[in-house]
Amino acid sequence: MAANGERKTVAPDQRCAIGLTFGNSYSSVACTIDDSAVVIANEDGDRQIPSVLSYVDGEEYTGNQAKAFLVRNAENTLVSFRDFLGKEFKSIDPTHCHAAAHPQEASGSVAFSVKDKAEGDANTISVSEVATRYIRRLVQSASDYIGKQVTSAVLTIPTNFTDKQCEALIQAANNADLEVLQLIKEPIADVLAYDARPEATIEDKNIVVADLGGTRSDVAVVASRGGLYTILATAHDYEFAGVHLDKVLMDHFAKEFMKKNKDVDPRENARSLAKLKAESESAKKALSIGTNASFSVESLAEGIDFQSTINRLRYETVARNVLGGINRLIEGVVKSAGLDVLDIDEVILSGGTSHTPKIASNMRNIFPESTKIQSPSTNPSAINPSELQARGAALQASLIQEYDSEDVDQSTHPAVTTVAHITNAIGVVSVGHDGEGFSPIIAPETAVPARRTIHINGPKEGGDVLIKVIEGNTHIKVTKPEPKAAKDEKDEDDSDFSEEEEEEDKREKIWKSGETLAEAAVRGLKKGSKVEVTVNVAADLGVTITAREVGGKGGVRGNIAA
Ligand code: ATP
Ligand code: MG
Repeated sequence: MAANGERKTVAPDQRCAIGLTFGNSYSSVACTIDDSAVVIANEDGDRQIPSVLSYVDGEEYTGNQAKAFLVRNAENTLVSFRDFLGKEFKSIDPTHCHAAAHPQEASGSVAFSVKDKAEGDANTISVSEVATRYIRRLVQSASDYIGKQVTSAVLTIPTNFTDKQCEALIQAANNADLEVLQLIKEPIADVLAYDARPEATIEDKNIVVADLGGTRSDVAVVASRGGLYTILATAHDYEFAGVHLDKVLMDHFAKEFMKKNKDVDPRENARSLAKLKAESESAKKALSIGTNASFSVESLAEGIDFQSTINRLRYETVARNVLGGINRLIEGVVKSAGLDVLDIDEVILSGGTSHTPKIASNMRNIFPESTKIQSPSTNPSAINPSELQARGAALQASLIQEYDSEDVDQSTHPAVTTVAHITNAIGVVSVGHDGEGFSPIIAPETAVPARRTIHINGPKEGGDVLIKVIEGNTHIKVTKPEPKAAKDEKDEDDSDFSEEEEEEDKREKIWKSGETLAEAAVRGLKKGSKVEVTVNVAADLGVTITAREVGGKGGVRGNIAA
C-alpha cells in the first residue's frame, strides 16, 4: 500500500462523509440522517445508478442516461470497468464490454479510447481516470442532495480484491477529491446494515451473505460473535449473475422474433442487440414484482416493431441453469466453511439479482425452516437488497468520520480479518437429579478473546450440582423416511425444487460432547435457583471458568492453560 502521505486526508471537523458502493453494473451512495442510513437519489431520481459514462459531442453523461446511449453511441460508452482497476490488461475479462467501448492495453494496464471532447479524435483514457470521472459524478450527486460538499467516504469492496485493486480504487477516489476513510468488505457492509436496525438483537449467529450482482456473484459465510464478524469462507462466480439472466431473456425473445419474422436474428446487429438487451433487463426486473412482464421494442430489427409478454413461470424455466448455478454456489460455500445448512441462522440476499423471487424460494428450500431468509419476497421487513451495501458503508462512515487521519489509517486495514478463533464450542453439562444436558456457552468459530455467561437451572429441589465444562461440536443426525413405493420421475422440466419433492431425509443438528475441560461442584443450591457459568477465553486460548449460584455467595473458579 502507498504511504499515508500520498493519500488524500481531510481534517475530522471538515468532513462530510458518505457510504459508497461502486459496482461493475450499478453504484449507490448513502448518508446517515439521525443515525439511520438513507440511500441518495441522483438528479434522475435513481438510487441504483448504472456504472456507465458516455460521451456525446464532448458532453459527459452518466447513470441511466449514459446507459441508454449503448444503442446509438456504444463506442463512446464505458461500462463494467470497476473490476479492471489495479489489474494487468492480460488478466482482465473484457466480455461485458463487447457492445461498448473496448478495453485496450496501455503500458500493461487497461485504458479505453473514446471521443470525449467535441473537437478532435478519440483520446486514450486510463481505467483509473474513467473510475475517477465516474466517482466524481456520484460525489456531485450526493453533494447536491446533502447540500454540502462531500469530502470523504467508506467504500465497499469484494472479499477477493487484491491489495493492488484496493490501492487503485483508493487512488481513483482520491483523484476525484474524495478521501477514503476505510474500505469494508461487501458482505460485512450487508451484515452491518441489518445489525444496525433498532429491532436487531446482536446474537451469535452464522450468516450466509449472497451478493448477487450484474456480472458476478459473491458469497460469504460470516460468523457473528458478540458483535465481531469473522469471514469463514468465500466463493466467487462470474457465470451465474444478472447479465446471464438478461441473456436468457434475450435468447428467448430473439427466437420468438425470428419465428414471426422470417429468421431475422436481432442478435446479429449491434443496435438491435443493444435494444434487445435493455428491454430484457427491464422485463427481468418487472418479473421480480409481477407474475407477468411485457416486452416491447420499436424497430427491433430491420424496422420491425416487436411486442410480447412472458410470465414468471416461463422465465424461471428458461433461466433454470443460471438459477441452479446460484444454488450450487451457495451450497458449496457453506460446505467449504466446514458447516452444514443446519448451522446457518440467517441468509442475507444482497445485490440487484437478489430481488428475484425464485432465488429466495430456492434458499427457503435449501436451508431448514430455522434459517431466516432475508429477502423482499420471503420477509416483508427485509431491507432492499440493492441498498444494503451503501447503507452499511454509510453507517460505518458515520462511526469513524470523527477519527483523526492516523487513527483512520489504522482502521483502513480490513475491518474484519480472520482473527484467532476457537474451533469447537465450549459449553456445560450439568449433572443433577434432572439428568444431563449440554448447553452451549461459546459457539464454534468465536473470535478470541471472548467471554460469555449463561444461567442454567439447578436441580428442582435444590442441593448439589456438578458442572462439567466441555468442548462440544455438532453433528448432523439423518433419519431416513419410511420407505414408500417409488414414484416415476416425470418432472424433468420442472425447477430444481418442485413442491412435491417431499420424503426427504430428516436432518437435525445434534450437540456432541467432546473433551472435558473442567468440572466444578456447586453445593447446597436453594430450591429452584440457577447456576451462573462464565467462560472466558483469552487471546492465547487459555480458559477461565467461574460457576456460582445466582444470588448466592462464593463460587468456584478455575483456569486451564491454552
Ligand atoms: P456487479 O459488480 O456484479 O456487476 P453490481 O454490484 O454493480 O454488480 P447490483 O446492483 O448488485 O450491481 O446488481 C445488478 C444486477 O441486478 C443487474 O443485472 C440488474 O439487472 C439486476 N437487478 C436489479 N434490480 C433487479 C430486480 N428488481 N430484479 C431482478 N434483477 C434486478
Ligand atoms: Mg456488487
